[in-house]
Formats: sequence, C-alpha cells, structure tokens
Amino acid sequence: MVSEDELRRRWERTVERLFRERIIRSEAVRKAFLKYPRYLFVQKRYWDYAHVDEPLPIPAGQTISAPHMVAIMLELAELRPGMKVLEVGTGSGWNAALIAELVKTDVYTIERIPELVEFARRNLGRAGVENVHVIPGDGTKGFPPKAPYDRIIVTAGAPKVPDPLVEQLKPGGKLLIPVGSYHLWQDLLEVLKLPDGSTETRNHGGVAFVPLIGEHGWRG
Ligand code: SAM
Repeated sequence: MVSEDELRRRWERTVERLFRERIIRSEAVRKAFLKYPRYLFVQKRYWDYAHVDEPLPIPAGQTISAPHMVAIMLELAELRPGMKVLEVGTGSGWNAALIAELVKTDVYTIERIPELVEFARRNLGRAGVENVHVIPGDGTKGFPPKAPYDRIIVTAGAPKVPDPLVEQLKPGGKLLIPVGSYHLWQDLLEVLKLPDGSTETRNHGGVAFVPLIGEHGWRG
C-alpha cells in the first residue's frame, strides 16, 4: 500500500494535468480539487487508482465519476460563493464536497441507495466537510424544502429532463443533466431557466453515466 504522501503527490499531478489541458479552467475549481483528493472518497482497495482519470467502483454497483468529467461539470456550473445548490446522485460524496468548497455554504445532495447515503456521510465526515446535507430519497423529484436553487447538478443519466427539477430552479438558474439512453450513453445538457420562466437548452456532447432511477427517471 502506498503512503498518503505519495497518493497526494499523484493526485496533484492529475490536477495539474487537467489544468494544463484546460479541462480545469478556474483557480477555484483547481483549489477545490487539491483540497479534496479523490482517494478520500473511495474504498481503500481503490486508493492506488484514485488519481487515474477514469470512473471507479463504489459500493452498490455504482461509480465515482472520472476527474475530467467532474471538472467539466463544475466549470459549466459556474459556481460562486453563496449559491444554493442541489446535487442529485450523491454516490461517494466527492462531487458534493467540491461543490461545497466552491459555494462555501450549505449544499443539498440526494441519494436513492441507503448504503451509499451512509458511505457518503462517512467519507464527508472523514474529509472534514460539514456543510453537505446527504438526503436519502428519489432526486428526480428534486428537494422542495430548500427550493428554489441557483444550480441543480445531476450525476446520473436520465431518459428526459425531469419537470420537478426545472420547476425548482430560480429564474436565471441552471440545471446540468446527462440525458439519453439507459446503457451509459447520454448528452450532457445545460438547461437555463430564463427570467420569464421559459428554458433554453445547450448540448455539451456525449457522456457516460449510470442510470437515474426514479419517478421522473428510469423505472428501476
Ligand atoms: N456524484 C457522485 C460522486 O461524487 O461520487 C457520483 C454519482 S454516481 C455516477 C450516480 C449516483 O446516482 C449513484 O450513486 C446512484 O445510486 C444515484 N442515483 C440514481 N438515481 C437516483 C435518484 N433518482 N435519486 C438520487 N440518486 C440517484
């Protein structure tokens, strides 16, 4: 087993490469990545691979996304301190930790698999993240108690954009969501809610996520 110093050095090299390649574009995202290395959010047997730019397994047959994918979504989200953010698909809690570092306020994240709710809470606790609230449930329905949101970031692939998520966006807010097929091929959509309540959608190209399962997603 390699030392934590070595894991951190490997992680720093991954972050610097993503920055050089302009996948990480902002100093804020770079700093957040350096603060929360991915190895803190995977099981020990995967520590050796945590710096590799590929998805990795987490419990319950789910995945932690590849670093470049997380960076692309965070840069598109244009997060600023004070923004209210909902994440759908907590998984390991890593993306939620990065979001919390960028908005510097409470973040809400929903996960449908109870085992992963516990896994994420443990990871976040160990990493010292205090402002992430992991909520068990079906995130395709959003999280009305804290709506409306400046940003909603969905990290699982949907058959279509769930209406409740658009409803729970503030005017001027945006939703990032992979939409497409069940089997790991989707388009990353950015849905902007305009001041008059209408929406404008931009397509940022092909991505591969596990399915979003729920009332307004795929039927499990
Ligand atoms: N953001 C995660 C991270 O940082 O580790 C990775 C997310 S993983 C690619 C997708 C997650 O979405 C899985 O943990 C899966 O259980 C969850 N998921 C799928 N459908 C969901 C739903 N309707 N509500 C909440 N979570 C859901």
